[in-house]
Amino acid sequence: MKIGFIGLGIMGKPMAKNLIKAGYQLVVCDLVQSAVDELVALGAEAAANGKEVASKCNVIITMLPNSPHVKTVVLGEGGIIEGAKAGSVVIDMSSIAPLASREIYAALEEKGIDMLDAPVSGGEPKAIDGTLSVMVGGKKEVFDIYYDIMKSMAASVVYVGEIGAGNTAKLCNQIIVALNIAAVSEAFILAKKAGVDPELVYQAIRGGLAGSTVMDAKVPMMLDRNFKPGFKIDLHIKDLSNVLETSHGVGVPLPLTSQVMEIMQAIKLDGCGVEDHASILKYYEKIANTILER
Ligand code: NAD
Repeated sequence: MKIGFIGLGIMGKPMAKNLIKAGYQLVVCDLVQSAVDELVALGAEAAANGKEVASKCNVIITMLPNSPHVKTVVLGEGGIIEGAKAGSVVIDMSSIAPLASREIYAALEEKGIDMLDAPVSGGEPKAIDGTLSVMVGGKKEVFDIYYDIMKSMAASVVYVGEIGAGNTAKLCNQIIVALNIAAVSEAFILAKKAGVDPELVYQAIRGGLAGSTVMDAKVPMMLDRNFKPGFKIDLHIKDLSNVLETSHGVGVPLPLTSQVMEIMQAIKLDGCGVEDHASILKYYEKIANTILER
């Protein structure tokens, strides 16, 4: 089966490679020519835009930064909607606002094109391993048809409800990750300034109730002072903007999320927007006048 794949960045490139490994033929597109060339070298076909991708494939996956990029690629000039046949499906795996997913779905539905919103969690290492977690919104019968394609990039693919539900689940995920990184930063700066070896604190507590996937992924990075992304602060700010827009829309105050959002805004001003979100630590280092090192 031929699958279109648009957006070959940190996440999209390894996800596309896993589809090739699973035996699918790919038609790929990105603004960055070197990323396209890398996939063509593995047997993929290149296309100029969404329209051309959609004219060659009935299944089109998008993995783009945010809502405006997905709207442009799907609904804009030269977009997927211009080339797609009725009965095709767009599987948008980007993390975007649930409202945007619903708007794009409605425009595609008028042309008889299906859509799933299927954002992922797990970051670059799990995109490479093919062990992502995928949370999917859309029609259940459409989910069932395309489950195997999504599963070839993931350890878990879970149906969470109607269109937009996938991105709502992803926003919940991003709240928990952001608050968890802030909590870990706060705690380990205390250990350091109180004169207790943070590495030993990590070994002592990681197996208990405070332990988490975030702690295991981010504390070693923090102790190594490795802030190479991974997941950029700029993208997490994008997600928390979508979180706050959505939460205010449905009437849910999020006091802790808004505080961590302001922490991210502060470190972005210090030039950390393109660093990994582990650099939330740097805010705590600044206010405590202490550097976390081994
Ligand atoms: P990225 O910036 O590395 O990749 C985005 C790609 O989209 C780029 O290669 C860019 O050239 C391409 N692109 C943008 N506009 C385009 C257009 N009009 N036509 C064709 N290509 C276009 O981002 P990423 O880290 O791969 O993230 C992609 C999505 O996945 C985001 O929504 C992000 O929030 C989400 N996500 C990222 C991670 C992570 O750890 N990086 C983890 C989970 C989810």
